[in-house]
Amino acid sequence: MSSVNTNDSVLIVGSVALDSVETPSGKVERALGGAAVYSSVAASFFSPVRIVGVVGEDFPKEHLEFLASRRIDTRGVQIAPGSTFHWKGTYEGDMNQAQTLATELNVFQDFKPELPQDYRSSKYVFLANIDPQLQLQVLDQVDGAELVGCDTMNFWIESKHDELLEVLKRVDVMFLNDAEVRQLTGTVNLTRAADQIRKLGPKYVIVKKGEHGALMYCDGSTCFSAASYPLDEVADPTGAGDSFAGGFMGYVARTGEVTESSLRKAVIYGSTLASYNVQDFSLERFKKLTIKDIDERYEEFKRMVFFEEMG
Ligand code: AMP
Repeated sequence: MSSVNTNDSVLIVGSVALDSVETPSGKVERALGGAAVYSSVAASFFSPVRIVGVVGEDFPKEHLEFLASRRIDTRGVQIAPGSTFHWKGTYEGDMNQAQTLATELNVFQDFKPELPQDYRSSKYVFLANIDPQLQLQVLDQVDGAELVGCDTMNFWIESKHDELLEVLKRVDVMFLNDAEVRQLTGTVNLTRAADQIRKLGPKYVIVKKGEHGALMYCDGSTCFSAASYPLDEVADPTGAGDSFAGGFMGYVARTGEVTESSLRKAVIYGSTLASYNVQDFSLERFKKLTIKDIDERYEEFKRMVFFEEMG
C-alpha cells in the first residue's frame, strides 16, 4: 500500500451482535457479528477505529478483547443489563440475499449513544446498519466530520423510512445493495434509482451487487464500476456489505483524500475485504488476514480488469 498514513480514526456506530447463521457450507450459533463489528475490523486494517454500540451481559469478554487487539477503541461500547442483539439468518440458492429468520434488538431497544469526548471530533464517520434514529443521535454529537458514510437494510427502510430520509440529508456516501436501492426508491433501474438517492443528500451512492461487483455513482451517471473477486466457494456472505464499507472508509481515512481517484481505490479495497470475509463464518477469516494478503488481492483486482488496445 503506497498511500500516506494520516492516522485519522474512523468513528463507527452500528449493531454489535451475536449471529446464528446457516449456509450450504455449515452453520454457527451466536457467533460474533454485527454491522459495526465487521466494518470496524475491516477498517482497522487501514486506520484506527472508534466503535459505538451496546452489548448485553451475555456478550463474551473475548470478543471485546479481540476488537481491542485490532486498534479498535471500544470505550464507546456500553455493556447493558439484558441480552445482546441477536440476528438469525439463512442463505439458500441466492447467496447474495439473506433470509432473516429473527431480529432480536434486545439491548439496542433502550440504547442511548453517549460518545466519549475525544470521539466527537472524528473526521471520518461510518453509520453502519442500525436504527436510523441512533445514527442521527450519533451524528448530532459529532462536529466537523469530513466524510460521513452510511449503510442500512430492508428492515429499517420499511420500519423507519422517515428517520432514514433525515439521515440521508446528512450523509456523503450511501452504501446500499441493489435490492435496497429499489426498495428505497421504488425504481427498478439502478442508475435512475441512484440518481434519486443522490437528490436526497449523498454525493456518492455505492450500489453493492454481491458477486456481481459494485457501482459508484457520482454525477447522475456511473462513475466507477468494480468487479467482485471470483471465488470458487462462498462459505458465509454475512457481513460482506459491512466489510466492504469498513474497508472503504478505513482506506479513505488512511489517505485523508476525498477525490474520485482515491474513492475508486477505496472501492477496490472494500471489495478486497468483502471477498476475504465471505471465505469463512463470522470474523474467522479476518482473524487470520494480513496486510500482505490484502495487497496481493488488490493487485489481482488490477490485473483482472486490465486490457490493451489491439496494436
Ligand atoms: P451484511 O451481511 O453486511 O448486510 O450484514 C450482516 C450483519 O448485519 C449481521 O452480522 C447482523 O448481525 C447485522 N444485522 C442484521 N439485521 C440487522 C438490523 N436490523 N439492524 C442492524 N444490524 C443488523
